[in-house]
Amino acid sequence: MFIPDRMYDTVYDIPDGYFTENGIKYLFVDIDNTLVPYENTSPTKENLMWFEKLKKLGITLLLVSNNGEERAKEYVKDVGYKYMADMKKPLIKRYKAFMKENGANKDNSMAIGDQIFTDIASAKRIGMKAVLVKPINDKKTAFFIFKRIMEKPFLAVYKSREKRRNKTKREGNI
Ligand SMILES: [Mg+2]
Repeated sequence: MFIPDRMYDTVYDIPDGYFTENGIKYLFVDIDNTLVPYENTSPTKENLMWFEKLKKLGITLLLVSNNGEERAKEYVKDVGYKYMADMKKPLIKRYKAFMKENGANKDNSMAIGDQIFTDIASAKRIGMKAVLVKPINDKKTAFFIFKRIMEKPFLAVYKSREKRRNKTKREGNI
């Protein structure tokens, strides 16, 4: 439940093929520290270019945030994407309602976020694919530092799986 399917440095590093080969039509993307740092109230130019690319791939973007309504509302103001704030990740009740409302299901959806215990855990509980990216700018509070330490063993499991995956690929057994 706490192991991402893939890890990348940033959302821009995720290859297009990873979406298309998995039949992804809906992408749930965390805002804070995944797309922009907390202090950014609106999307960056890179964000916008990436959103455009997703559209070309036929992917519907759904922005999610554990923070309040105001923050998400401000971020989407000029882009008009659907969003859901105050998600209470890793709880999935609101997630599921949001998916149903938008015609998404676990097989055609993927989540991207920077935190294992919220973004990844909620996606895995639902059963969809989950990609972990590096946080853009971590808050240096004791709570955040603690959370990052707690994530370490799960990242180690991911790394060993990745090693195995690459080995299988090299041996041509894929
Ligand atoms: Mg985040």
